[in-house]
Formats: sequence, C-alpha cells, structure tokens
Amino acid sequence: MSSRSEVTQMIEPVSLMKKEIIEPVSSYFGENTFSETTMQKMVSEKTFKAFKKWQEEGEVLSSGQADEIAQAMKEWALNKGATSYTHWFQPMTGLTAEKHDSFISIGSTGNVIEKFTGGKLIQGEPDASSFPSGGIRATFEARGYTAWDPSSPAFIAEVENGKTLCIPTIFISYTGEALDKKLPLLRSDVAINKSALELLKLFGHEAKAVFSTCGPEQEYFLIDEAYYRMRPDLCLAGRTLFGASSPKGQQLEDQYFGSIKERILNYMREVEEEAYKLGIPLTTRHNEVAPHQYEFAPIFERSNLAADHNQLLMDIMKKVAQRHRLVCLLHEKPFAGINGSGKHLNWSLADDKGNNLLNPGETPEDNLLFLTVLCSVIYAVYTHSDILRASVAFAGNEHRLGANEAPPAIVSIFLGEQLTKIIEMIESGKMAKAKKQDLVDLGVKLLPKFMRDTTDRNRTSPFAFTGAKFEFRAVGSSMNISTSIAVINTIVADAMQIAIQRINAEKASSDNFSAAVLKVLQGLVKESRTVLFEGNNYSDEWVKEAEKRGLPNVASTAEALKAFVAPKAIDLFERHGVFSKVELQSRYLIWLELYEKVIDIEAKTLDDMVSTIVLPSAYEYQTDLLNGFEMLSDIATAGKLALGAEVVEDRKEVIEEISGLILKIRKGLKKVEDVLESAHHLDIEKKTVAFFTEVKPAMLEVRDDVDALEKIMPDNLWSMPKYREMLFIA
Ligand code: ADP
Ligand code: MG
Repeated sequence: MSSRSEVTQMIEPVSLMKKEIIEPVSSYFGENTFSETTMQKMVSEKTFKAFKKWQEEGEVLSSGQADEIAQAMKEWALNKGATSYTHWFQPMTGLTAEKHDSFISIGSTGNVIEKFTGGKLIQGEPDASSFPSGGIRATFEARGYTAWDPSSPAFIAEVENGKTLCIPTIFISYTGEALDKKLPLLRSDVAINKSALELLKLFGHEAKAVFSTCGPEQEYFLIDEAYYRMRPDLCLAGRTLFGASSPKGQQLEDQYFGSIKERILNYMREVEEEAYKLGIPLTTRHNEVAPHQYEFAPIFERSNLAADHNQLLMDIMKKVAQRHRLVCLLHEKPFAGINGSGKHLNWSLADDKGNNLLNPGETPEDNLLFLTVLCSVIYAVYTHSDILRASVAFAGNEHRLGANEAPPAIVSIFLGEQLTKIIEMIESGKMAKAKKQDLVDLGVKLLPKFMRDTTDRNRTSPFAFTGAKFEFRAVGSSMNISTSIAVINTIVADAMQIAIQRINAEKASSDNFSAAVLKVLQGLVKESRTVLFEGNNYSDEWVKEAEKRGLPNVASTAEALKAFVAPKAIDLFERHGVFSKVELQSRYLIWLELYEKVIDIEAKTLDDMVSTIVLPSAYEYQTDLLNGFEMLSDIATAGKLALGAEVVEDRKEVIEEISGLILKIRKGLKKVEDVLESAHHLDIEKKTVAFFTEVKPAMLEVRDDVDALEKIMPDNLWSMPKYREMLFIA
C-alpha cells in the first residue's frame, strides 16, 4: 500500500479521461429517453391519444393499448442495445431502487425471444421485504407493487457492458399505501392543482391545470479517489469524522465562481453529456464557496420530473466521478469547519399555458392575483414551518441547519425590499398612500405596480423570494427533494383554500372584488407577519428575535420529525389526500431509524479508526520520543550538551503533550462506547434523542483531541489524508 505522500505524488492534475464533445447538445438531448415524440411515432394515433388522456386526466389505458406501448418501448430499447428492463423507484430511504429483469422469454419452439408486455410495463412486483415500510407491510406480506408513472419518460441507463431500460414507477403496498417518495409528490400536485384552479377561477382566469415547477441547485464536493480510499470515514459515513483544519480554508474567498480546474471541468462536461442524453436540462456549473465544492443547476421542470431528474443526476455525478478517478461527495457536511452542501429548491406554480403564478402580471388584476398567491405562500410557511423543517430533517443535514453557513433551523421568509414595502402597505391598509409613480389605478383602491426585476439577495434566508419563484434553501445535498416539494405543495394548497373561503365571505358583503381581496390579504399578512425576516439569518440576534416571535427553532432531527405525526399535520395531509395517518406514522419511524443507523455507523467507524489507525500511530511517535528522551538525558547528564537541562525539559513537554492527548482520546472513546451502549437499550424515540444529546457530543470531543494530535504528529506517521490535501490537491 502506498503512503499518503506517495499517493499525493501520483495524483494527475488533469483528467485521464479526455474526450472531445463537439456535437451540439440539441443533436442528442434526450436521445436515451422514450420521449412522447418517439412514442407518438411508434404507436397508433388512437393509442397515443389514450396515453395522453391517461397522463393528463388519469383515464385508464386498455390492456391492448398498454401492450402496444410496451411493444414500442421494447423495440426502441432493443434498438438502443438494451437487454433488460427495470422498474425504477424511490423507496423511503431516499435512494433509488431497481430490480432488473431480462427481456428474454422462451418461444414456442424452445428458442429465446425478446418479449415485454403491457402488464409488465404497468405493474411490477419486486420482492419488497427488504425495503423499509415502517410497519405498513407486515413481514409475512412481502409484496410491494411498482406501477408505471406515465408522466416521467422511460430512459436507458448505460454502463460500459450493457444497457437497461428504466421505467419510472411508484411503489405501493398490497393495501395501496405509498412506500415511496414519488407517490406523495404526485398526490400533492393534484392538491395544488385543485386549489390553484379554484383560485384562478375566482379571479376570472381560465386554465386547465396548474402544477408546481422546480429547479434544484445541486451542490457537491469532488476529491481524488486515492485520498477517499485511505479514509474509512469517507467510505463508510460519507463524511470525515476527523481532520485538523487546513491553514488555508475558504478565507481568501478565491473559490466561489473562480475559474474551474481542467480536471474538474472535464468531469463536469462529461456529467453534462450524460445528463443531456437523459433529457436532464443542466444549464449552469460553477465553483461553490468551499475549496473543491461545486454546483450544477438545471432549467426548471414540472416537479415530478425535476425530482426524478435530480435523483438521476446524483447517480450520474457519482458514476462519472469514478471514471475520472474522483469521488463525488454528496454528504451535507463532508468537512467540518468549511461550508457544507445543500440543494436550493426553487419552487413556483405554472398553469398549462406556461404562466407563472408567482410572476406579477401586466395588469393590476394580475398583480392582485400574484399578491394573493404570494400571501398564501407566506401564510402557508408561517402556519406549517414545523412541517417544512421536518421535511429536511436528516442526519447529514443536521450539521448544516443552524451552523453558521447554512440556513438556520428557524424557518423564515425573505421577500426583498420592494415586496416588503408592498406587503407592509397591504398590512396597514394604506395602499392609497404609496407614491404616485408606483401605483396603478384599480378604480377604487390602489395597488402598487411591482417591478419584476429584484436584484437584492439574501443568501442567509431559508425561504427566499428570488423573483418569480421561492427558493427553499434548507434541503440537504444528498436528499431526495420529493418530500419537501410535497410539503410545499400541500401547505400552499391549504393556504389557498383559506384565502378562497375568506375572499368569498368578504365578497358577499362588498361589491368591490379588489377591495375584498385586499382586506383578506391584510388579514393573512397580519396573522403570519412574524415569519417575515429581512435581516441576517446567521446572526445570534436573529435567534433571540425569533424566540421572542415564537418561531420554532429545532436543531435535532428526531425532534423535528415529530411535526409529521402531530395532529395538525395528520389533519392537513389527510384532508388533501397526500399522506394518510398510517403513511405519516410509518415515515416517522423509518426516518427515526435512518437517523439512528447513520449515527450508529459513524460512532462505530470513529471507534474503529481511533483504535486501529490513530492510537497506534500515536504510540509509535510516543515510543520514538521516549527512546530519544533517554538518549538525550544520558548525553545531558554526561555534560555533553550546552543547554542540557533545558533541552531535556523541552523534550519532556512534547512527551507530556502527546501522552496527555492519548489519555484524553482513550477516555473519550470509552465515553462514546458507553453512551452508545446505554442508548441502545432505549426505545427508538428516546434512542434518537440520546444519539443527539450524548453520542454526537461525545464523538465531537474525541474528534477535537484527534485533530489536536494530527497537528503535532510527524507527517510520515499520519496515514489519513489531511484536509489540506483532500481539499487542495486534485
Ligand atoms: P438564481 O440566480 O436566483 O439562483 P436562476 O435563474 O439562476 O436564479 O435560477 C436558479 C434555479 O431556479 C434554476 O434551476 C432555475 O431553473 C430555477 N427556476 C427559475 N424559475 C423557476 C420557476 N418558475 N420555478 C421553479 N424553478 C425555477
Ligand atoms: Mg440560487
């Protein structure tokens, strides 16, 4: 095995994988997807129409039509070189799952033929007993069903030695409960569609459908694979459990938007190429704040597609990294002391004609509608900030939320100066006092004309209006975005219902629609005003201020997850048909268990690394020092050293320091083992609390001492790659 320094010598500054990508993107974009255009060409007009009806109105396909589509899909996939197919789905652990089946069947004469039927396309039955169901599916009833989601196109996954047709599906239990992350998202789109259409109708707008749109900005780290392999913590936990800070971190601020290294750029271009083939519309790539941290952002799409695409993108990012001898770290906090990674979820609503409901319009009436949608979102976030917080509760994300670089665990909304003024005017009921040039005459009341282009930015807010969309910044970089989208859709759908009811009631006693709407908006803003905050969300003052305002500030994952099973949440989600009570309870359990497992793995990895890597090196150094000390003392007592006593004393100090750290580390490790052991006797709720309040702090104590040790250990005796190498050499 090579040592750290040998590995560093071997790292190639430029990617070994060099490939000219010259074709324009448009010539191959989506070539590995069974797009609607492809389907239309390959099936009868009648079947295609039926498919569209199924997709848009949920009208069931006949088995003949399903067979025809399956046939076309198989032909297309075989032509592309695929040999198997899989139903591709997103179980509740947040990963994606696949069970591959080959296309081959035995023909009538015993020969092998490629066959794929409508039945197999529409429904699959993977053995589901190993996927967590949180008690929904008793273990003897292992059946779980996957069912085709026609709103997301099938695609081909390529590896060097073969291709597989992947069919996006939902995953449900025998009794119909959602066992995945996709189905609730689809249901929440139904809920938002219903509420938003009602609202549009109230304002005299005609639309056939409204759906949520989403553009997730994906942050990540890249490090050289050789370093990764030498760090068991990265391999097993996805993050470093130790690592003294590098003298150079991100203080020079020379990374963000800096020029991208050639090796990294080669990687990014290949990720883009793979993404484009699958129809993932990536548009931006850049360096992020921390060293070796980067971001990809796509053009926004319908949420369901955006969520599938984000899952696929994360997959591609990891696979392509391997080809470049890099490792893509999606963990929320791979390195302590420097920025972590998130996923900014840009969210908005669009109607079937492509109108963005969070875009102020050309006419005062459109502006009034815009303001109603805006106030509904504000009211929604205020009323259900706890559920929003719960949707991003995850062990990895716990390191970010509340730390000084990520959105805090306190959910608040940033609107920007201009909108804030407008909201304040609505709240005070003093619309008429706005400056003349800002106003548009509504006849009776005045509504300020809203300027579309707001350039002011607040990067510290967890929920920020960034012009025509909201940006939910608290999502973790490794997380599946579906749950957060489903939550936003549902809470906004609910708030819209409240707005509609109140407007209808107000309308009854007034003959002026605009005045009635403004009065309702005034009420909504007054009730939810404490959630609005324009200042620095990272400051201590905000934490105090938020407490005064009564806004929840939940740092622990286990505590935050409780919001999912509170009566308020159960009532909300059941009313909108997004989650049933059983589904919420099962998710709560699964996510508590996930937290428990992650921390357990981390604690055991820490224990293992300290015992088998850190301490043996420390003993070796201690022994070297002690040997040297004896010789030094001999020479000194023989009077052969001018500074005799002082030199001996000095060497003694070094030995004391090392020995003191070894002692502290050993004691700290014992404590980790003890608290872990006693936590394991508790039930899952108490256990996760103990993991947060006892195990994690005990681990941090050990870490501090190990990091102090790293700083004084001889370089050649420290085998774990250091921050200054992992984050600066690639
Ligand atoms: P910003 O500078 O605010 O981050 P960008 O225009 O770069 O804005 O967009 C960031 C992300 O927001 C992109 O992924 C983009 O596609 C997405 N986005 C833009 N408009 C919408 C929208 N209406 N709905 C959802 N996402 C959107
Ligand atoms: Mg952004």
